[in-house]
Amino acid sequence: MSTTVEPQNDDDEIQSIRDAVRALCMDYPGEYWREKDRERAYPTEFVQTLTEKGFLAVLIPEEYGGSGLGIKAAAAILEEIQRSGANGGGCHAQMYTMGTLLRHGSQAQKEKWLPQIASGALRLQAFGVTEPTSGTDTLSLRTTATRKGDKFIVNGQKVWTSRAEHSDLMLLLARTTPKEDVAKKSLGLSVFLVDMREAVGNGLTIQPLRAMINHAATEVFFDDLEIPADSLIGEVDQGFRYILDGMNAERTLIAAECIGDARWFIEKATNYANERHVFGRAIGQNQGIQFPIAKAYAATEAANLMVDKAIRLFDAGAPAGEAANMAKMLASEAAWEAANVCLQTHGGFGFAEEYDVERKFRETRLYQIAPISTNLILSYIAEHVLGLPRSF
Ligand SMILES: Cc1cc2nc3c(=O)[nH]c(=O)nc-3n(C[C@H](O)[C@H](O)[C@H](O)COP(=O)(O)OP(=O)(O)OC[C@H]3O[C@@H](n4cnc5c(N)ncnc54)[C@H](O)[C@@H]3O)c2cc1C
Repeated sequence: MSTTVEPQNDDDEIQSIRDAVRALCMDYPGEYWREKDRERAYPTEFVQTLTEKGFLAVLIPEEYGGSGLGIKAAAAILEEIQRSGANGGGCHAQMYTMGTLLRHGSQAQKEKWLPQIASGALRLQAFGVTEPTSGTDTLSLRTTATRKGDKFIVNGQKVWTSRAEHSDLMLLLARTTPKEDVAKKSLGLSVFLVDMREAVGNGLTIQPLRAMINHAATEVFFDDLEIPADSLIGEVDQGFRYILDGMNAERTLIAAECIGDARWFIEKATNYANERHVFGRAIGQNQGIQFPIAKAYAATEAANLMVDKAIRLFDAGAPAGEAANMAKMLASEAAWEAANVCLQTHGGFGFAEEYDVERKFRETRLYQIAPISTNLILSYIAEHVLGLPRSF
C-alpha cells in the first residue's frame, strides 16, 4: 500500500541510510520499548548501536570523525526510528544541539569535543534551557553564570532537562549580564558546554522527574558550580542568538520524527482494520473506520511536503524559519491525528500495552508542547511571517 512509498526525492545515499536504520531497528522490537517504558529506563543498547553505526554523527564533519551530511540525512534517520515503533527521544538531541558547537564553537573546542562525540566516547544529549519559573519566556531565565578569574560560577535550576543522567555533556543557557543592564533584551545570555562528569556532586545535582512518557526527564540544580572559562561557546552575552540559530534544525528534525510516528500509526491502524473482524466482516470495510485513516494519511503526506521544504531550504543555507516552524506544527498535528485514529481503530485493544499504540500515543503527544508549543509557532507565523502586531 502507498504508506510504504518513499519520498520521491530521496537519492541512493539517503535510501541506503533509511534501509540500514530500518534493519537496525528490527533488533529493537515493541517488547524492548515496552520494557523501557514500564521501567522508565534509558535505551542504552539502542543508543549505543546507533552510535557505533555512526548514525548519531551524521552531522559532524568528516575531519572530526563524522559523516559530514546534511539535515536531510539526519531527518531520514529520525523518521525511520519513529516509524519502526521506537522512541528516538533517548538520542535525538545530539543531532540538533550539535549545530551550536559546530557553528559557534572555537577551533579548539571542536577539536577537543567533536571527535569524542563522533566516536561515542562522550554523549552530548542534554540541553538545559527551560526553567520552572520562566517557561517559554526564555529571556526571563534566572540561572546565572558569573565570571571569576578563569572560571564561571553557575547558580540556578533547570527543569525538563532530558537525558541529563545519561549524557556526559550539557549545552547550557545561562544569564551572564543582568536583564536590566543589557542594551537589547535578547542580549545577556551565554551558552556553555558543561562537562557533567566533573560537575555532578561538585555543584551539579540531577534529579529524575517521572513523567507521562519515558524521556529520561530530570530537574537540574546548580549550586556554585565552577566551570572552566573555556566552556563558553562563542561570545559572552550572545547565547540567545546561537540557540535561536539552532532552532530551525531542531524543529525540522522533530517534524521528521512526527512524520515517522504518523506513518507508524497509519500502518498499524490499516493492518488492524484489515485483520479485525466484527459483525462477520473486517472493521476496515466500514467507512466510519476507513475515512479517518484516509484523512490522517492525507494530512501526513501534506505535512511531509512542508518537512521536505524545510529540509531543502536548511541544507541550501536559505532562510528556513517559516518552513521549519510550519513543518513542526503540521507534522506534530498529523501525528496526533493519526495516533487518535489508530487508538479508535483498535477499540479496547488500543489500551493494551502489548499493541504499543497507547505508548506511542503518549509519546507523540509531546511534540505539540516540546521543544516549542504550537501557540508559540502560531505566534511566530502571525508576527514574523504575516506582519501582525507583536503580542508579547
Ligand atoms: C518530556 C519533556 C522533555 C523536555 N525536554 C527538554 C529539554 O531537554 N531541555 C529543555 O530545555 N526543555 C525541555 N522541555 C521543556 C519544553 O521545551 C517546555 O515544556 C516547553 O517549551 C513549554 O514550556 P513550559 O512547559 O514552561 O510552558 P509555559 O511556558 O508555562 O506555557 C504553558 C502553556 O501556555 C502557552 N503560552 C505561554 N505563553 C503564551 C503566549 N504568549 N501566547 C499563547 N500561549 C502561550 C504555551 O503554549 C503552553 O501551552 C521538555 C518538556 C517535556 C514535557
